[in-house]
Amino acid sequence: MTRLPAPRSDLGLREGYHSPQLEVEVRLNTNESPYPPPREWLEAVTEQARDMAFNRYPDRSARALREALAQLHGVGPEQIFAANGSNEVLQCLCLAYGGAGRKAAMWEPTYALHSHIAHLTGTEVVQGARKADFTLDLDACQRLMEREQPSLVFVCSPNNPTGTAEAPSTVSALVEASQGLVVVDEAYGQFASWSALELVGDEVPLVVVRTYSKTWSMAGLRLGYMVGPAKVVETMERVALPYHLDGLKQAAGRLALKFFSQMEDRVSQVVAERERVQTALVKMNQKVWPSQANFVLFRPPTSTGRDVWEALVARSVLVRDTSSWPGLEGCLRVTVGTPDENDRFLAALEEVLR
Ligand code: PMP
Repeated sequence: MTRLPAPRSDLGLREGYHSPQLEVEVRLNTNESPYPPPREWLEAVTEQARDMAFNRYPDRSARALREALAQLHGVGPEQIFAANGSNEVLQCLCLAYGGAGRKAAMWEPTYALHSHIAHLTGTEVVQGARKADFTLDLDACQRLMEREQPSLVFVCSPNNPTGTAEAPSTVSALVEASQGLVVVDEAYGQFASWSALELVGDEVPLVVVRTYSKTWSMAGLRLGYMVGPAKVVETMERVALPYHLDGLKQAAGRLALKFFSQMEDRVSQVVAERERVQTALVKMNQKVWPSQANFVLFRPPTSTGRDVWEALVARSVLVRDTSSWPGLEGCLRVTVGTPDENDRFLAALEEVLR
């Protein structure tokens, strides 16, 4: 018998999130950017690293990074909170506004970490369903919010794993109806045609969460941030660990913003490829949900989804197998890669379907 203590009984084992990493030639399963960040950025970061006082703690308030992000979004630095990936921003939100006796609302299928992090922080998860087109059913959302009075309302737009974006009117109506804080997760925001950033204000119960992991091509950096009311940012600083954001990361994130136009170029390439992949999938008679992100959800007809996934892996193409997720039966999610990678994926799929 083990002498090791049992972990918290409510932890559960949430498998859903981990995507198996297999040795394949074409990796289109985790929604990263297929392009590396600019070489000049790396050189600037390296130079900065040489001058850093690593014996000292970093700037706890990450002032320079927040000022740069504030300038980018036309808000004040006191309206920006940064953390180690947007996942940590979400965790801090749950620590600050969720917790025992409080609820977080979300509509499935959506980003699995919303319920997972809420759960880990002792926040009760209340879930509703999306419409068949995977957008939110505003009336149903309002009913759920009225009934449950959640302290946190998670809206993922564009939504992972469906790619669907919410209309501005839906987000505004949710903010209007909510008694709690509405969190719009815009991890894929720059790929979409609209952003909830324009609704942010110091008296508005809304925060918008963004990440460097997708559009900025920096998933390895682990940096994300939130734009919201200054009072919310102040509260977030109380729950974040002291010096949670290391100095090099702060500098790297700040320097990245100097390469804004390169980022926009990469985003345009991905968006153009996304449209090409979607069109090709439709031509192959796949059910496709219009995506505003850097991935596409599709359902091969007359298949379990899993069989197509396996056949693609056999051809060294890895996509995300979402076919057993509730509400996504038979579906697969493919990340938009380089034109070559997308060609490989489309050719492999065509072969499999034949
Ligand atoms: N939100 C959504 C919707 C995501 O898909 C992801 C990444 N899979 C994240 C947040 C987390 O991103 P990161 O922690 O890398 O910033």
